[in-house]
Amino acid sequence: MNDALHDPQRPDEDFALKLDAQDPLARYRQEFHIPTGPDGRPLIYLCGNSLGLQPVRTRAFVDQELRDWAELAVDGHFRARRPWYPYHERLREPGARLVGALPHEVVFMNGLTVNLHLLMVSFYRPTPQRYRIVIEDAAFPSDIYLARTQLQCHGISPDDGLIVLRPRAGEHLIRTEDVLDLLRREGSSIAVLLLPGVNYFTGQVFDMQRIAHAGHAAGCAVGFDLAHAAGNVELRLHEWQVDFAAWCTYKYLNSGPGAVAGCFIHDRHVRNTDLTALPRFGGWWGNDPLTRFRMHLEPEFVPVPSADAWQLSNPPILAMAPVLASLEIFDEVGMAAIRAKSLRLTRYLQFLLDQMPSSRYTVITPREPEWRGCQFSILAHERPRELHQSLESAGVVCDFREPNVVRVAPAPLYNTHHEVWRFWQILARHA
Ligand SMILES: *Cc1c(COP(=O)(O)O)cnc(C)c1O
Repeated sequence: MNDALHDPQRPDEDFALKLDAQDPLARYRQEFHIPTGPDGRPLIYLCGNSLGLQPVRTRAFVDQELRDWAELAVDGHFRARRPWYPYHERLREPGARLVGALPHEVVFMNGLTVNLHLLMVSFYRPTPQRYRIVIEDAAFPSDIYLARTQLQCHGISPDDGLIVLRPRAGEHLIRTEDVLDLLRREGSSIAVLLLPGVNYFTGQVFDMQRIAHAGHAAGCAVGFDLAHAAGNVELRLHEWQVDFAAWCTYKYLNSGPGAVAGCFIHDRHVRNTDLTALPRFGGWWGNDPLTRFRMHLEPEFVPVPSADAWQLSNPPILAMAPVLASLEIFDEVGMAAIRAKSLRLTRYLQFLLDQMPSSRYTVITPREPEWRGCQFSILAHERPRELHQSLESAGVVCDFREPNVVRVAPAPLYNTHHEVWRFWQILARHA
């Protein structure tokens, strides 16, 4: 199958169908509900980077919890088919495999932005000399608000405390060398680097390993927002020595709108239960389970030596069930196979776009497969909204980002080469 990455490609429809016939993940498409258009035909859903499709098996996972709640009520904590008390532990191992972590480095809780704030409580400890936060230009709005309000919470003006990494003039992507250069110049004033694994706007994969290494050499904490990376590219958070990371599960991870998010804290930090050295907010679900139920008899917060120490509340079981269902699929297939298909799909899409260069648009996502996931960001030079409208009316679901970018993301678990081919045909008519 690896040959498919090197074989010559062809722009005809039969070739797309041939690629699908050879696709070892083809059967996973039927594991998902594919939305249909007004004519009852499946839409070409290229929006899994925004909201992933519902796995068919999710309903059974949620139904199970509704049934156990109806039949067992409070006893469900220990007697449900999947007991609620340790429910979050079920997500730990598949979650760790997903992001290249050790199981005790991962916890699923809250939403993404909430998690980043909770992590900043621990990792953003500004001093008069070292107080700045680095984010990237074209960061997701929530991340910008997060960085600015974190600074303000510590009485630091964002004008001074926020460093925004920008692409060079005339470029769209951030060069790793520019990140390293910033660290050499300003590193001693930087407390935290908070960068994306994959930028949501351009689809650029960041060199997380080199950035973490250089950040640490400069004495900074290094955290990643993996909203567009988790379930999209292969990650080795533990090995890369990343300090902390968080990701949502409703994009590539198909866990439903507003689903419970994931969180990573490196082993060397989770072992540190000294609340003076590594402060964190306490809640009963982060406390050592041995004393958790002694309630008011134990007023001291004793953090459990795992990422669980950052979770405050008891887990929302009905909201966790879809995450568990989805992680089961990711575990079954494995990120290596998912990424391999993603590379085949995007190589094919790149080939098709190259057949028909257009002066009306530019793909701003990196050309090198290593530095992109499955998203292509198409910058339209003229009437970008109309391009998006035409795609939508032709049955393509994709999104538009101000001021002029259409994002399309063939998701390896459910999109086909034939859909990529049809998308290209539709684009060709309007470009
Ligand atoms: C999707 C996304 C978010 C969304 O934040 P929530 O807290 O899940 O609402 C935040 N940051 C990035 C980079 C995103 O892509």
